[in-house]
Amino acid sequence: MAKTHNLGFPRIGAKRELKFALEAYWKRESSRDELKELGAVLRKRHWEDQAGLDLVPVGDFSFYDQVLDMSFALGNLPERVQGFQGDQLDNYFRVARGRSAQSTENHAQCCDGVAAGEMTKWFDTNYHYIVPEFNAKTTFNLDATQLLAQLDEAKSQGVKAKPVIIGPLTYLAIGKAKDDSNKLALLERLLPVYGELLDNLASQGVEWVQIDEPVLVTELDAEWQHAFNTAYHQLKSTKVNLLVATYFGQLQENAYLAANLPVAGLHLDALNDRDGVLPLLNILPSHKILSLGVINGRNIWKTDLNAVLDWLEPLHARLGDRLWIAPSCSLLHVPVDLDSEQRLDNEIKSWMAFAKQKLGEIVVLATALNRGRAAVKVELDVNRRAIETRRNSPRVTNPAVRAALTGITPELGCRKNPYDVRAAKQAPLLNLPKFPTTTIGSFPQTAEIRQVRSQFKSGKIDQVEYRQAIQGEIARCVREQESLNLDVFVHGEAERNDMVEYFGEQLEGYAFSQFGWVQSYGSRCVKPPILFGDIRRPKVMTVDWISYAQSLTDKPVKGMLTGPVTILNWSFVRDDQPRSVSCKQLALAIREEVLDLEKAGVRVIQIDEAALREGLPLRKSQWKEYLDWAVESFRITANGVSDETQIHTHMCYSEFNDIISAIADMDADVITIETSRSDMELLDVFDDFKYPNEIGPGVYDIHSPNIPSEEHIVALMKKAAERIPVERLWVNPDCGLKTRQWKEVIPALTNMVAAAKRLRAEL
Ligand code: GLN
Ligand code: ZN
Repeated sequence: MAKTHNLGFPRIGAKRELKFALEAYWKRESSRDELKELGAVLRKRHWEDQAGLDLVPVGDFSFYDQVLDMSFALGNLPERVQGFQGDQLDNYFRVARGRSAQSTENHAQCCDGVAAGEMTKWFDTNYHYIVPEFNAKTTFNLDATQLLAQLDEAKSQGVKAKPVIIGPLTYLAIGKAKDDSNKLALLERLLPVYGELLDNLASQGVEWVQIDEPVLVTELDAEWQHAFNTAYHQLKSTKVNLLVATYFGQLQENAYLAANLPVAGLHLDALNDRDGVLPLLNILPSHKILSLGVINGRNIWKTDLNAVLDWLEPLHARLGDRLWIAPSCSLLHVPVDLDSEQRLDNEIKSWMAFAKQKLGEIVVLATALNRGRAAVKVELDVNRRAIETRRNSPRVTNPAVRAALTGITPELGCRKNPYDVRAAKQAPLLNLPKFPTTTIGSFPQTAEIRQVRSQFKSGKIDQVEYRQAIQGEIARCVREQESLNLDVFVHGEAERNDMVEYFGEQLEGYAFSQFGWVQSYGSRCVKPPILFGDIRRPKVMTVDWISYAQSLTDKPVKGMLTGPVTILNWSFVRDDQPRSVSCKQLALAIREEVLDLEKAGVRVIQIDEAALREGLPLRKSQWKEYLDWAVESFRITANGVSDETQIHTHMCYSEFNDIISAIADMDADVITIETSRSDMELLDVFDDFKYPNEIGPGVYDIHSPNIPSEEHIVALMKKAAERIPVERLWVNPDCGLKTRQWKEVIPALTNMVAAAKRLRAEL
């Protein structure tokens, strides 16, 4: 009998109950007991949702982050929070969120303030975890209270519990040695604690433990490969069966290592590593369980169950009881329940599956394997019809878009002349001073703006009133920028709720859910738009607003667009065509908008690629392929304009060392980046590469309420000028200002403009 199991369930709740409970607790509007009670309610509900499976994950619930839970279980708390006298959960939130001393956030080290743990992306997902902190002296100490309590709770509810923990190598790999010491040296101290944890679970009658080691799908050097063997040989004596879980990618050269670890089973992502399965079978010891992740845990489409069965049945014949089936990875990365959706188009909805529906698919597959397809004929037929209607739907395929795509030539992505020729033509038209000042796009999104947008959405105000209100905001932004004396203006983005959703809503081929929330970090969730069909731009999207802003001033106003790569990376995408194809479709649509802006007389156009880096594959060997189509997509979008039009791009990060040549290939006239917290050292990469075009290194950290002083900005820009010729430097904040307040933005930008003036005089 093939067994079914799940690797993890979303914990935020179908209606984001956990989010609201956490935020109420943080605002002291509810008690700790109420929060804990809600946690128990969610766990119970989610276990019930998974009751049809043979094994159900326990320990995947978290009040903030599963990696931080693991740090607490291993007794690896950052020094600055050790010895805290209060409640353990409060201390946990101190690490997760930091604590400011009377809101002076830069005093985090003293006066009761505590710096938050650093946050970073969990592999190539949009989930952020709290980075474990290490140093050469780090020791570990088991505190399994939370996990054991959840296990007890599960057992008392009759749950067929399979505890889930993060494996020792992945735990070390994703952490950071604050003193640059060798993390692997800590393994020796870490393993006894893992041993103790597993023994604890065994003594609770646990049969299987899922131990997540997704680093196995990344490039490991010999030392790490060796450490894998050492670690699992040492853990071998435990009485529980270990299922080592890998996901998100391919094992490739680590396949032999993974197959031969001395554990009872291995889970493999059979979506990302389908081709790796058969070769793996040949090397997998014959006593081992093979768990295949056959349902996509990262996307919201129904699985083609009949096709999966065609592939699985021979494997089942070969493996028999040794075959388990599961989603490819934890379902943390998909929304909870499609049944909550009331407004999705019924046809499109019939093509989709969220976490609960995906588990239903697992059960159907297992039943078909164990009892024959006839036992689930109805379910398989319904599924086949859904897959077929989607495949053949005219709403998915648009012949004109297909034709445009095949018509893409290399020239489409090329400017007519190189940067210096363009710059010489742009200079007299734009007439900008040295060190020109600008902002990244958005201005504060006040409560009034949010209200106007939601009133318009719900029909409480009409198109005319809405237009007036937004124009009022634009006029305010322009006035403020006039008095600040900035050089290149923006319209402020008041009409945008989100830089991707705004464009998705206006493009054909996109659908939107009401409750399709996915945890991004802690209580923060995102609701990615759903890209389901060929992309077409039925009409202009931004020209009106920008033209209105431009009509109010003589200063150039930047047209403001989100680039194709970022739109793609922040959407649920199609699984019926390569990402590169969807990206190029987006590129063609946004290109039309760029050309329309140009036609309307807009002289500067910014195309944000905030998330370009996020799309990088886990393995470096696959980077080039991604960067090739990502950069090509940007070029298609941006480079159809005349020499006189200035193209800007913006990126929300500062790590360019390994992608600098791709960035240069984009050939934007100006790139603005995040640098204020790094003291401009990150510009070295641009310097070493001899990056040829203009750069605006961010000088104002917009994530913090602090107001940067004029001196500070001047000092930063002087450092920048040591690396980049002054005639190619811009002065701007790190990112958009939408999360800040006007009372912070005005003094900060006043200082920024004053700094630029001083720089013009001094350099
Ligand atoms: N133009 C966007 C803004 O200013 C850019 C946001 C971003 O880079 N994340 O808000
Ligand atoms: Zn940004």
